[in-house]
Amino acid sequence: MAKFVYDFTEGNRDLKDLLGGKGANLAEMTNLGLPVPPGFTITSEACRHYLAEGSVPEGLEREIADHLSALESAMGKKLGQADDPLLVSVRSGAKFSMPGMMETVLNIGLNDESVHGLAKQAGGNDRFAWDSYRRLIQMFGKTVQGIDGELFEHALEELKNGRQDTDLTAQELQGLVETYKGVVREQTGKDFPADPREQMRLAVMAVFDSWNAPRAILYRRQERIPADLGTAVNIVAMVFGNLGDDSGTGVAFTRDPGSGRQGIYGDYLQNAQGEDVVAGIRNTVPLQDLERIDKRSYDELLSIMETLETHYRDLCDIEFTIERGKLWMLQTRVGKRTAAAAFRIAVQLVDQGLITLDEAVTRVSGDQLAQLMFPRFSKEGDLKKITKGMNASPGAAVGKVVFTSERAVELAGQGEDVILVRRETNPDDLSGMIAARGVLTSRGGKTSHAAVVARGMGKTCVCGAEELEVSASQKRFTAPGGIEVREGDVISIDGSTGEVFLGEVPVVDSVVVEYFEGAQPDDELVKAVDRIMAHADSVRRLGVRANADNPEDSARARRFGAQGIGLCRTEHMFLGERRQLVEDLVLATSKQERQAALDALEPHQKSDFIGIFRAMEGLPVTIRLIDPPLHEFLPDLVALSVKAATGEATDKDRALLAAVKRLHEQNPMLGLRGVRLGLVIPGLFAMQVRAIAEAAREVPGARPEIMIPLVAAVQELEAVREEAVKILQATGVDALVGTMIETPRAALTAGQVAEAAEFFSFGTNDLTQMTWGFSRDDVEAAFFSRYLELGIFGVSPFETLDRDGVGRLVRIAVEEGRATRPDLKLGICGEHGGDPESVHFCHEAGLDYVSCSPFRIPVARLEAGRAVLTRNDSDTR
Ligand code: ADP
Ligand code: MG
Ligand code: MG
Repeated sequence: MAKFVYDFTEGNRDLKDLLGGKGANLAEMTNLGLPVPPGFTITSEACRHYLAEGSVPEGLEREIADHLSALESAMGKKLGQADDPLLVSVRSGAKFSMPGMMETVLNIGLNDESVHGLAKQAGGNDRFAWDSYRRLIQMFGKTVQGIDGELFEHALEELKNGRQDTDLTAQELQGLVETYKGVVREQTGKDFPADPREQMRLAVMAVFDSWNAPRAILYRRQERIPADLGTAVNIVAMVFGNLGDDSGTGVAFTRDPGSGRQGIYGDYLQNAQGEDVVAGIRNTVPLQDLERIDKRSYDELLSIMETLETHYRDLCDIEFTIERGKLWMLQTRVGKRTAAAAFRIAVQLVDQGLITLDEAVTRVSGDQLAQLMFPRFSKEGDLKKITKGMNASPGAAVGKVVFTSERAVELAGQGEDVILVRRETNPDDLSGMIAARGVLTSRGGKTSHAAVVARGMGKTCVCGAEELEVSASQKRFTAPGGIEVREGDVISIDGSTGEVFLGEVPVVDSVVVEYFEGAQPDDELVKAVDRIMAHADSVRRLGVRANADNPEDSARARRFGAQGIGLCRTEHMFLGERRQLVEDLVLATSKQERQAALDALEPHQKSDFIGIFRAMEGLPVTIRLIDPPLHEFLPDLVALSVKAATGEATDKDRALLAAVKRLHEQNPMLGLRGVRLGLVIPGLFAMQVRAIAEAAREVPGARPEIMIPLVAAVQELEAVREEAVKILQATGVDALVGTMIETPRAALTAGQVAEAAEFFSFGTNDLTQMTWGFSRDDVEAAFFSRYLELGIFGVSPFETLDRDGVGRLVRIAVEEGRATRPDLKLGICGEHGGDPESVHFCHEAGLDYVSCSPFRIPVARLEAGRAVLTRNDSDTR
């Protein structure tokens, strides 16, 4: 039969799944011989059963009763017994810590009789007993009975009337208990439950239920904690910090969780129970003061902290209580820390000989590294916050507001810092986004165009700030409270929090980026990053390449550690002034005109490639032939129609209008694009291949790889490949020819496709769209939040690669592609290439490299190392 209850002596820290973090660690401390009050843990399995079935599993009540009896005999008292009561706490504790998210009730077992017994046992300390009793009713009322906590707070404040809670007399506290009981009666229509076992039973249920409280659900979603884990419940014999000045309670860290510095960090509060410290009821004193207050307990605590650090080999945080000079440990766990502290502590522990460099790499994460790479606001001075949107791409940006990309480019060209504010962005805003310090939109979620592009560029972005009314035509936006911001006004946006401020908030640059850019590591944090990155590089199997399509990005990518370019898009090369040439191509009516247009494009392409080959100095450069539908390069239909209607249209405008109408597609993402263009427009791909080959001839050591997009059938690839190979042979240039795998059919027929491809690069953005049947631009705003809410996926499949579906296609293609061609080179170039989870997947699937935007390269390098060293999920969190 299943076992649902574990005594602290039966558990250990590896049982977090079953006992939750708190229970597992209480058991671990118990078994280390540390002073933990006795108790037991009800498993999360029991909770899951309760939440699913609406009733506790069979046998649970029996098991609890048995463990309670054992606890009672160990303590020599009975729960709530009138003359000498055992009191317990009922504490939640899930696998992943969810600070303050769930519930705990202290002093269970008190009622109108046992309160006297408690006083007597405490040497006639009536004050203590009534204080404990009022705490029970307050916590029980709030967390178990769902009564508004304010009602209790209010009564307490009124009674204190400016005094401290420790100034209240026994009589006053007894009166408060009566008041509280009145509140309970009024709010629930029933008396406060006097039966200790009933109190305990109800509290256990309440902890179970708290797993599905709205704030817990929200927290889990933010932290990506699975919704179905459930929580364990701990029943712990009470120890009392509120027995007088020789008692108290505190929290401590074995190192500073903010900076990672070693030392003694913590707070202590005399004559108090645990929850007072966090609630900030009275001012705590620094932990160091405990040395003066109670030297013996202090020394013991320090020695226990050392034991814990050595045992857990990491920063621990702890909760403790001193009852009349006797120290009790009530909780420990490996403590949360800032990103900077994580790197510093990992390296310190290596130097202390507590962990290996391998482990140090697993103790930090790509997300933490990314955080360290963004500039931050120094939050000093008074800030005028005007709204809050979504924290789409971290960092801190300050600048003058502009509403169009043209204006952004213009002002940035004059050396101004600008923030591009748009309702939403589109691909034409790219130049403006590049020019701007940050991007703010009033529409769209974390996977909107603005967010995705900004993250890729490492550009600060706040998106979906829905309180803002943006009017580009009037060059202004409004914020709540009648605030109006015009072009040229300065704002500050915090991409890590989503906050938007009026005026300039001071910014501090990232030393970590300066280091990646080539600065000598001289501060402690940068040295730690340096050591960890070096080790990650030495263990990783995955190569890391960059998505870059200009010499500047390529050069930065190399400085950041890219081992090549995995995706050089060529369509950006047709924007700006060169649109004109594409228009000529589209409007060409004869073979000759078309060839003339292509010939005009070729030298531009060639010079683009020369710049990139030079920047990459002999590293491979994968160039994708043109991918998007041609109408993306043409003027807007509406603008042309207006011109035509008002008689302002030139002959060319009229021709363009006809072309735009002719090329219009219902589903452009599934239309005439990628390899299909190459097959339909003779000479287009040939022109690009020739430009690549000619450029390669001019740059010694250049290593081009030619990549064909959107292939679904090997026949498509064979046709364009044949043409490409001819040109390469004619020019005497050596280049691999390969394909993207971004349609499900290509993945499913990878064995055939590999006949014609020397490499595969998984285009997981398109592959995700087509596998799910999602049009990304449409679905994200329309229903992704609902899907997340329903748990259909825990995170957008555009953010983290969907292992079950898209991942399966990738695995099939890897296996069948390699079966055909064992030396097939395999990479990924979708946005997933820079996402930590997805990098781990790519490692497991056996790819050769990931490719991501330059700014994400260090993250990918680190995660590729961690993928080798990390064995299970819980370590990655
Ligand atoms: P949280 O997870 O919110 O910290 P806890 O279950 O740790 O909740 O409990 C809240 C407070 O009550 C903590 O300060 C804890 O140390 C204290 N506490 C819990 N159980 C006991 C106990 N048996 N005796 C004394 N204090 C306790
Ligand atoms: Mg706690
Ligand atoms: Mg694609």
